Amino acid sequence: MTPPVVRFAPSPTGRIHIGNARTALFNYLIARRHGGRFVLRFDDTDLARSTGEYAAGIETDLAWLGVWPDVVARQSQRIALYEAAVEKLKSAKLLYPAYETQGELDRRRKLQQARGLPPIYDRAALKLTHEDRARLEAEGRRPHWRLRLDHRVVRWTDLVRGDSHIDCASLSDPVLVREDGTFLYTLPSVVDDIEMGVTHVIRGEDHVTNTAVQIQIFEALAGGAPAFAHHNLLVDASGGGLSKRTGALSISSLRESGVEALAVAAVAVLTGSSDEVRAVASLDELAQAFDLAHVSRNAARFDPAELKSLTAKTLHLLTFAAVEARLAPGDTEAFWNAVRGNLTTFADVALWRAVVAGDIAPVIEDADFCRRAAGLLPPEPWDETTWAAWTGAVKAATGAKGRALFHPLRLALTGQEQGPELAKLLPLIGRLRALERLGRATV
Ligand code: GLU
Repeated sequence: MTPPVVRFAPSPTGRIHIGNARTALFNYLIARRHGGRFVLRFDDTDLARSTGEYAAGIETDLAWLGVWPDVVARQSQRIALYEAAVEKLKSAKLLYPAYETQGELDRRRKLQQARGLPPIYDRAALKLTHEDRARLEAEGRRPHWRLRLDHRVVRWTDLVRGDSHIDCASLSDPVLVREDGTFLYTLPSVVDDIEMGVTHVIRGEDHVTNTAVQIQIFEALAGGAPAFAHHNLLVDASGGGLSKRTGALSISSLRESGVEALAVAAVAVLTGSSDEVRAVASLDELAQAFDLAHVSRNAARFDPAELKSLTAKTLHLLTFAAVEARLAPGDTEAFWNAVRGNLTTFADVALWRAVVAGDIAPVIEDADFCRRAAGLLPPEPWDETTWAAWTGAVKAATGAKGRALFHPLRLALTGQEQGPELAKLLPLIGRLRALERLGRATV
């Protein structure tokens, strides 16, 4: 595959949720796997609703997921390109001015519905004469601009949905430019995709209808269109869609809840595909597993509770190198390897850090037994064989075995009923701390 150029184009009108992350990751993983480029393009032409804070927040959310754009662009800074495209479309007679108010359009639509006709714009504005337009403008009306669709069937081979087609005769001529000269999403997106050399448009299936319109614009402006892939949308366990507005399942709230970024990524990418949702140790592993052709056409239903169990499974897989930056300076590789299997969230590391290097409250069930065991602790240096040698000696001296042998030692040494293998923890706890916790009677 020649290196693809892909883009994620969120409108910064809210924070992204796990469903948006699905789109971002699909694009990013394809770029990453094939050595391509990933563009983060803020679709911020709606100045009333877009904010710089939301844009910054989205970048933070993506960075947390491990999604690093090669380029960040803002459509609000690229208006001149869109204006040039408008001129080109006007001179090709593909854009025409229309003057209807929203109220007039609504009334017309109701009439059409009452007559059993499809609610499609009737192209009344195309019949306006020069004089009609002059009169409307003299009344103070400003035109919005519609694309004159070619009423043909537009076809494309969707990389998820296969052979796709839309009969453009069934669509209203879309408005590309509003009365106030601002742009709707449709045209800037195409202009940028052309200018940035986007090879694959990978987005949610809520954009399928736009694709027919946009392919017509691509053809008018550039003579050809990129490849398209429309993926199914994530829905929650009850089948409900996700919304940026409610903040539910936003990436920032998931981060705060303590779930792992890689668990979120695995759920976002693998749910609703023929691949099993499983923990991965890196985004590269996920990139290798991911294939657009595996994405299902049915809704991608996921259970938010799955994020918790996948978080634990992910932690169990992560290497020291993958988490080193998040650990404290004194946390060693041996420590991480000893404790990762017992974490349900990353924050649990603090508990085990205190066990090996801090203060804990030992639980002493049988003080005499613990003191005798303390007396049998071998001299350091210790390694992973020390535990077996020591408990063997304790067993020989006291006759305790099985749970009666191990459980009181675990409680005394860690203060916990359960935890990582003591063979690994004991050398990290060290002789001095072990003696203190066991009761120090016989040193
Ligand atoms: N702003 C649009 C969205 O978030 C972009 C769609 C596209 O990728 O073309 O849905």
